[in-house]
Amino acid sequence: MKYVRKTKAPKFFKVDTQHLKDWGKYKSKKKRDLKLHILRNEQYFLCIYCEGKVSMKNSHIEHLRPKDVNKYPGRLFEYKNLTVSCNGDCQDFCLDDQPHTCGHVKANLYDEQLFLNPTELEDIEAYFIYDSDDGRILPSEKDPNRAMYMIYTVLKLNEPQLCMARKIALKTLQNKLSTFPKEKRKDILKTILRKESIAFISFLRYRYRKII
Ligand SMILES: [Zn+2]
Repeated sequence: MKYVRKTKAPKFFKVDTQHLKDWGKYKSKKKRDLKLHILRNEQYFLCIYCEGKVSMKNSHIEHLRPKDVNKYPGRLFEYKNLTVSCNGDCQDFCLDDQPHTCGHVKANLYDEQLFLNPTELEDIEAYFIYDSDDGRILPSEKDPNRAMYMIYTVLKLNEPQLCMARKIALKTLQNKLSTFPKEKRKDILKTILRKESIAFISFLRYRYRKII
């Protein structure tokens, strides 16, 4: 997971939602405008939680603090609470169409003491380490309880399809590097890992943390 800097709420969002109190009344077309804005300007088409690539089709607007108006009055249309998550479907790994990870699995979970909020914690990457052999995300020593809560209780970030996707991202990067002369690879790697739009970028940065 990585820090996502929220920008100021766009004008169209304020206009579209100024009289709304019910999320269901927020029109689908307007929601799409918002989602596209967030994906383009803040998340670079990556899921807020797993950092997998998302498109307009396989993602949804995600309330970090859940849509429960009793628990979080005033947060329903609060721009900084709105992000985009993947739908967490398992693709080729099983035959069901149930969500297995990320926002739809999280649903209404949000423990204020434990939840690591990617829009509030600039050092959120430091809570996690990765196993580059099997693609798992694991707690660092920084605060294992909070990291475990995110990985296992809230988001299920070690489901097989996600571990596999991380390994594929690493292999793809390695294959790309191998097409360059050896003496240039380090600089190219540094350039690539500065980009925010690469899927599973935190995993890749962790893998090459001694180089970059
Ligand atoms: Zn995701």
